[in-house]
Amino acid sequence: MAGRPRSSPDGPKLPTSREAIRQLCIENLLELPGEHIFFKDREGHFILVSRGFLEDQAPGLSAAEVIGKTDFDFFGEQHAQAAFEDEQRIIRTGQPMIGKIERETHRDREDCWVLTTKFPLRSREGETIGVFGISRDVTAQVVAEQALTFQSLHDSVTGLVNRIALRDRLSQALTALDRRPGRIALLFIDLDNYKVINDSFGHDIGDKVLCEVGRRLTAVSRRADTVARLGGDEFVMICTDLHDDDDPRLVGDRVVRAVAHPFVEGGFDLTVTASAGIVVTDDPNADPGQLLRDADAAMYGAKVAGKNRFEVFSPSLRSEAAASLVLESELRQALDASQLFLLYQPLFSIEDRTLRGVEALVRWRHPTRGVILPDAFIHLAEERGLIGRIDNFVLDEACRQLAEWLTQDGWPDDFTIAVNLSGRELVDPGFTEVVAKILARHDLEPSRLCLEIAETTLNGDAGGVEQTLAALSAYGVRLAIDDFGTGYSTLAHLRRLRVDVLKIDRSFIERIGRSTRDSEIINAITMMSHALGMLVVGEGIETTGQSDELASIDCDQVQGFLFARPLPAEAITEFRDGGTPHPA
Ligand code: C2E
Ligand code: MG
Ligand code: MG
Repeated sequence: MAGRPRSSPDGPKLPTSREAIRQLCIENLLELPGEHIFFKDREGHFILVSRGFLEDQAPGLSAAEVIGKTDFDFFGEQHAQAAFEDEQRIIRTGQPMIGKIERETHRDREDCWVLTTKFPLRSREGETIGVFGISRDVTAQVVAEQALTFQSLHDSVTGLVNRIALRDRLSQALTALDRRPGRIALLFIDLDNYKVINDSFGHDIGDKVLCEVGRRLTAVSRRADTVARLGGDEFVMICTDLHDDDDPRLVGDRVVRAVAHPFVEGGFDLTVTASAGIVVTDDPNADPGQLLRDADAAMYGAKVAGKNRFEVFSPSLRSEAAASLVLESELRQALDASQLFLLYQPLFSIEDRTLRGVEALVRWRHPTRGVILPDAFIHLAEERGLIGRIDNFVLDEACRQLAEWLTQDGWPDDFTIAVNLSGRELVDPGFTEVVAKILARHDLEPSRLCLEIAETTLNGDAGGVEQTLAALSAYGVRLAIDDFGTGYSTLAHLRRLRVDVLKIDRSFIERIGRSTRDSEIINAITMMSHALGMLVVGEGIETTGQSDELASIDCDQVQGFLFARPLPAEAITEFRDGGTPHPA
């Protein structure tokens, strides 16, 4: 049967008098190592301290030497003052202070964190004659806890606050509007070409790019602002305290420009651009989630408008964002339901107006909205990862059509078909093989195919894309730089790439005749391109004036509504058979 534990009759014994027991207990308490036990009078003078206190706080002093001194003799001013105030309150109210975690500041060594409990010290008559307490060093726990909290609220790659902390900061910023009316701006920032960089240069460089973007965003923000990384290549900025004359557009402009500034990483010259969406509110009751969605919708608007820019939220964007979700799911179905088809726009020799080739341009026959142009869905497809399937379809269908045409006679020997590529395939080292398979399937010479790459795709990228282009070129496929004049590649860049064709963008052509400077630039570009063995094509020719101007500067080929619009395949044969384009 279990009984009460009994001490062995021969073990050490307690003293017999109550006074001696009391004395022994106090002595044990005061001898505890590591625990800082102290007794003080009403003015904060020590009257008794433990050995742990002496060793840690007053090394070299005896217990007697400590008596009469105060916290101001041992600690930094800040801690001594705070402790004094706590003790005065305890004396005044008679209430203890239990388990306060406080920063103990020191004059001659590092501060630490302590857990302190203090009680009133009472006389036998019950009067408060001082305080006594115990405190212990808990620095290790506090630091560990702080690290955990930091980790849970910060992004480990950039050190910026994360999604959880962002929500908190946003709620705080909104609540602050209640106390002090004003405006805050929320910016949703998404990098435009991050995936290309990550895929072609590796994650180490990808991470460095994210850190640098974080630094730049922080540099353009004010101290009270918040810069957060949501994950992936998405960042959010909260700009509080916008003054009446502070235009959020200026912030948007600073952000976009700060990111687009080129930087060197791992020996590569990289350019990253960002699209930003801005929403501004003065409503303390605004829903943080809705604000983020609105800023996101505005950011998406900036992507659609051509990236590397910002857009300020307007309610119409909210419906556009919803519409883009619908369009995305419809586009997925369109791919399976064969709703995509191609039109072909002819390219003519400027000299004799003969047909030299066609450019395949994709169209979407939407079941209810009629035919949709690529500008309305290519960006969406790029964003939502559908572009690969579209470009593959276009490549295969264009090659099939060309092979069908070539079964008939009468085509020029150098007749080519041009296909537009988005940047995504170009980081895939296996892309050349994909092209080779398609050409083989349709039994076509590689030189019959010309792949058009927008100039903006090449900006600042020195790695994967160039390698893929070099492989394609070595295989015999022709390469064209599309929309030349809208990005900022240099001709030196083009020389390295061994490009066959340069297509001058319509926006440039439009300015011919209006500005002699633009004509001079086109003239210089044409001469240099010829020197590099490239063919020069003028795009989007709408007037005879533009056509004449291009002829006078020795441009090789022209493409534009003046000569022919994008047409169904059957209509192209007419031009092959000598049907002269307008104007004859
Ligand atoms: P792009 O490659 O620069 O194609 C030329 C665009 O200019 C075509 O628009 C064409 O219809 C239009 N155009 C040609 N001549 C004239 C003219 O005289 N005046 C005017 N105002 N426009 C002219 P489209 O077909 O709407 O294509 C727009 C862009 O969409 C293309 O620009 C290209 O970047 C992209 N795209 C088209 N098809 C594809 C495709 O299959 N895959 C990919 N990734 N992008 C495509
Ligand atoms: Mg093109
Ligand atoms: Mg173009």
